[in-house]
Amino acid sequence: MSRTTYQCTCGARIRFKQDLEKESSGVVPNWTCRDCGTPVPGQTAEKIRHQHPS
Ligand SMILES: [Zn+2]
Repeated sequence: MSRTTYQCTCGARIRFKQDLEKESSGVVPNWTCRDCGTPVPGQTAEKIRHQHPS
């Protein structure tokens, strides 16, 4: 199974759940970069959300 990573505009590489910040202001939770708060695309965030360092 391949891992999903997301390169944020701030330069942070988002790989794991803890790299994401959950923002549940609306009906659907938004996931943002923990460093800068830039939104991470939903589908990408959903995949990363299930990844843990091992
Ligand atoms: Zn960022």
